[in-house]
Amino acid sequence: MALIRERDSKRLHIKSKLMGETLVGRSFLESLEYGKTFRVLPDVNVLKIGGQSITDMGARAVLPVMKEIVENARRHKMIISTGGGTRSRHVYAIAMELGMPTGIISKLGQSISEQNALMLTVLLSPHGGIKVGHDDIPKLGAYFAQGCIPVIHGMPPYGYWEHPPEEGRIPSNRTDVGAFLLAEVIGAKQCIFVKDVDGLYSDNPKLYPDAEFFPRIGAAELLEREQDDLAVERVVLELLNRSQNISEIQIINGLKEGSITRALNGEHVGTIIYQDKTIE
Ligand code: ADP
Ligand code: MG
Repeated sequence: MALIRERDSKRLHIKSKLMGETLVGRSFLESLEYGKTFRVLPDVNVLKIGGQSITDMGARAVLPVMKEIVENARRHKMIISTGGGTRSRHVYAIAMELGMPTGIISKLGQSISEQNALMLTVLLSPHGGIKVGHDDIPKLGAYFAQGCIPVIHGMPPYGYWEHPPEEGRIPSNRTDVGAFLLAEVIGAKQCIFVKDVDGLYSDNPKLYPDAEFFPRIGAAELLEREQDDLAVERVVLELLNRSQNISEIQIINGLKEGSITRALNGEHVGTIIYQDKTIE
């Protein structure tokens, strides 16, 4: 690319289509052509292990889930992403009472998901478990080549820069969002959310046993329903319809033995939420 000196300002530019642009012009952005996204790790599955729904239940839930992960590790590459759970809720409650801003609350949540990542890594250590941080993403290829099972904390690293949410002060980008964005940036094969329910219902099935089960539903369709409660963070649904690599996610019940194995094999075991691109 040629270097060009601007006649008036004497600024030095590299000639490209982006030269001198603000990068916010709507018609300019629409006019850009990007080509296909490079998929970094297209054979890797991102498995989000729920904090509240799995880890907090202790050995009864965690050990069988770990066992199933290890049994699958030879056939399927996986990165484990961890949620926060009850300890996050505890610290959020104290932080809210103390007037902490959203960016601080996000930082606190990050450290809790890291606690869970540490525990799961220790459990997976005899089988190649390795705790990785957010800056280790470019090392994942090497870890997989050695047969490792990387474990990463799910809270995305917005930290102090976490966006103020539409309502209240609890960060809206939490560990489901972190797991989803990780899957998107590595161009993962699948993004699977391991929770304690069979999938997504019209309402919380623990409170409303008659709630309708959705085996498959579009992300926009689900957002438009404006359900009071969901089994996955709302932002994931918004991002799903903007993502380049991940066109669907699956929520499965980790408490039912065999669900993880079946989902890794590409079976439909829980709720699949898919990209339906009807949101502008
Ligand atoms: P995680 O521990 O993975 O963050 P959450 O506790 O945040 O999981 O979300 C899973 C929980 O969401 C389930 O245990 C269920 O009680 C609750 N839930 C709320 N609304 C729904 C819904 N519409 N469908 C399914 N589960 C729901
Ligand atoms: Mg959650």
